[in-house]
Amino acid sequence: MDFTDKIVLVTGASRGIGRACARLFAEHGARVAVHYHANRTAADETLAALPGSGHRLVRADIANPAEVQAMVNAVTEQMGGLHVLVNNAGIYEKRPFADLSYDDWLAHWHVNIQTNLLGAANAAFCTARHMMQHGGGRIVNVSSRGAFRGEPDSPAYGAAKAGMNAMSQSLAKALAPYNIIVTAVAPGWVETDMAAEHLAQRGDEMRQQSPLGRIAQPEEIARAVLFLASEGTDFLTGAIVDINGASYLRT
Ligand code: NDP
Repeated sequence: MDFTDKIVLVTGASRGIGRACARLFAEHGARVAVHYHANRTAADETLAALPGSGHRLVRADIANPAEVQAMVNAVTEQMGGLHVLVNNAGIYEKRPFADLSYDDWLAHWHVNIQTNLLGAANAAFCTARHMMQHGGGRIVNVSSRGAFRGEPDSPAYGAAKAGMNAMSQSLAKALAPYNIIVTAVAPGWVETDMAAEHLAQRGDEMRQQSPLGRIAQPEEIARAVLFLASEGTDFLTGAIVDINGASYLRT
């Protein structure tokens, strides 16, 4: 996998899976736009740890359409192009149904759809407009096992990720004529900040969901993202790749 001369935007690269993606892309020659939202210190650490040169930070609230557009414009104008978008930024909130008021329910759906679905959709739109004029590119969306298995403690999260999967498939068809390859990965639990509280409360149960007896490391997701973003994988367009250690098998 060689990303020399490629410019890659990884959203949510300050931490977790996004940080692992940024690092692996840089190790394979890419110039990386490290996107973050609120955690500048962590984003600086990601940036400082990247091998190579020409990387930069970009900040945006992914739930804000104007900020998403400005983020993509900043990358294309200041870095000189955009070849790969990794739509990774996201949130997970535990919201057990029985505990929710109607207002809580509305807020849960609003923030999940805005952040986990519309944020990625808007980034894909802005990026694809650029790619269409520059010979194509690749978009990899970071979805979730929850889209298939259900998320009883976070129904809007599961729905947003299912929407992301459907969006990936639709865009794979719509953008193929422009040489834009669109794929998704659907991880099970991954050892990041997002999983930390759950691991502390019920780590054994989470590890036992997989016959491998553990949850994934961020680097394992990053490797699949790089593969999907690499040359020679065009016919995977539209694919949603499960990365869940056989914890949830679908046919
Ligand atoms: P982390 O919580 O470790 O990191 C989340 C990242 O998303 C951070 O970089 C954060 O930026 C960014 N982010 C959060 N909200 C916003 C926002 N409103 N605007 C812009 N950026 C935002 O998460 P993970 O690395 O675990 O998750 C990455 C992706 O993988 C998510 O889409 C998640 O749904 C998915 N996933 C994760 C799983 C897991 O078990 N960890 C399992 C399945 C899927 P900042 O640091 O600046 O706040």
